[in-house]
Amino acid sequence: QDELLGLYDGKDKVVKLNVNNFNETVLEQNRGSLVEFYNTYCGHCRRFAPVYKKLAEQLHPWQDVVIVSAIDCAAEENNGICRTYEVMSYPTLRYLGPSFQPTATQYGVKLETQNPDELRSLLAGLVSVENQTANNIHWPNVAPVTESDSAGNLFEDLQSVQEQIALIFEPENSTLAIETAMFLLNWPAVEVRRINDATIAAKFKIDSKQHQLALLDRRGAIQIHTPANQTSIAYAQAIESALRALNMTPRPQKQLQQQQQLPSAPIGRNREVSEIISEVHRNKHLIYQADLEQAIRTILHNEVSKQNEIGGEPLVALQRFLTVLERYNPLGTNGRQMVSKLREFVVQFNQKLSGQQFEQELRRLVSKLGQIYSTTNYVGCTGSSPHLRGFTCSLWTLFHYLSVQSAGNEEAQDPLEVLQAMHGYVRNFFGCTDCSNHFQEMAARRKIWSVASKDEAVLWLWAAHNEVNQRLAGDATEDPQFPKIQFPSANSCAQCRRATANASKDSLELNWNKDAVLSFLKNIHNPQFISRYGVP
Ligand code: FAD
Repeated sequence: QDELLGLYDGKDKVVKLNVNNFNETVLEQNRGSLVEFYNTYCGHCRRFAPVYKKLAEQLHPWQDVVIVSAIDCAAEENNGICRTYEVMSYPTLRYLGPSFQPTATQYGVKLETQNPDELRSLLAGLVSVENQTANNIHWPNVAPVTESDSAGNLFEDLQSVQEQIALIFEPENSTLAIETAMFLLNWPAVEVRRINDATIAAKFKIDSKQHQLALLDRRGAIQIHTPANQTSIAYAQAIESALRALNMTPRPQKQLQQQQQLPSAPIGRNREVSEIISEVHRNKHLIYQADLEQAIRTILHNEVSKQNEIGGEPLVALQRFLTVLERYNPLGTNGRQMVSKLREFVVQFNQKLSGQQFEQELRRLVSKLGQIYSTTNYVGCTGSSPHLRGFTCSLWTLFHYLSVQSAGNEEAQDPLEVLQAMHGYVRNFFGCTDCSNHFQEMAARRKIWSVASKDEAVLWLWAAHNEVNQRLAGDATEDPQFPKIQFPSANSCAQCRRATANASKDSLELNWNKDAVLSFLKNIHNPQFISRYGVP
């Protein structure tokens, strides 16, 4: 499955974490780790991935002290880790220091920015407050040069290979020297020291008002250098050139992760995908059983199971969601039984339950009841390349399906049953944090709680989805083979659009024949017409 491939691969420098290597790579090393907790299906995570890859590339020389790593919380196998670290939004970036161990209240330091320069500086700041020099020989010396240091011999405690000391004046609230030291971890011949005091800097001939640094050798000779600008990258480059001019060399960088053992796309995947996509293009109106099942599977086995604690509003939301799912469940006999039993299990709790308890009960039911899902692939939601479409597409599909089933159920009295279940789910469990926030804002603006009939609920969801389509048309997450259109297209449902002379191109909503749209939606989501393509 594409989602198992994660957003990072063997070609980038992000250290790939999973349930099998997390503790050994992050907790059992005397270095720090920047960890990104992400979901493959979260659009914002996808857009951030190239930025994070660049950061990992840039901070590769820091790896003896801090690594740049990531774990995919959309992979079910990683549920336990994402639960332990109580990840509430995606992507979440946390720094876990060298002696860090998670507890019920400590999950590491959350970094509240996604700007790479700010991240670099925050990391350097965190490194500078750890006292690790004794446990990790690579840890930079973060102590500022004092008055008495400057009077003595700065080389006194250094090893003989350290032939140079780079002295950097670090203005207040800056991490210039620490960052520079981190970039030079691979240069055994130099130690970088920070100077916070302009008078001390002057003793080493550094003019603190200029971008200057001093290289001091064991004989006491000082060379002044002026880097191109006042960034750690420029400072490190200036020092590297000076060291090379002295015939000094860096030690070779070690490979942190050898050959990446990531699951690769199965042979023949491309052929299979293009066959599936041809099928979907041939039958534009079909709803596929495979997608409905995949949505339910991901919701239960991943999104709900990876929650740490489910209490209060999220517990009520889960109970409502399971009630609606039980009522209009598209799964087979075993799947229907499973959802009923799961709902019975969850409603017993009126205070809270943990994601782990939920997952255990789910697994118990699956092993007791036998096969629940008939496929492990998407069909209508297959993307033309990995990480496009998939879960978010299937989630829309499932909720449209449920809203139509509710509209056809004469016994259902509550017009809001599906919209309320969806809203609660999206607000409390949907691992695409940006999507969830947008959806809640849109729900309030479009007055979701004023929907008065079940038919209106079907149309509310359709119109809301079209608004999202319009916003995302042309976005980096759009699949070129499945451009975002105002749905349904004129080809799919000619009578759904009214041809009015004065209708503007941008106000498509005005052109809709909503009765025709409602019939169309009811028609395509009729259980009799659900396609079992791809289901053995
Ligand atoms: P999707 O838009 O996922 O649609 C799935 C299927 O539904 C389509 O193949 C089509 O057959 C059908 N369909 C399309 N439009 C309609 C309609 N109006 N009515 C009925 N059926 C329709 N991504 C972001 O990047 N930012 C966001 O803010 C964001 N918000 C989201 C909010 C929610 C609640 C959800 C479920 C997803 C959100 N997404 C967001 C994801 C995004 O909407 C798409 O799911 C994703 O880009 C994949 O698009 P897709 O081409 O597979 O089709």
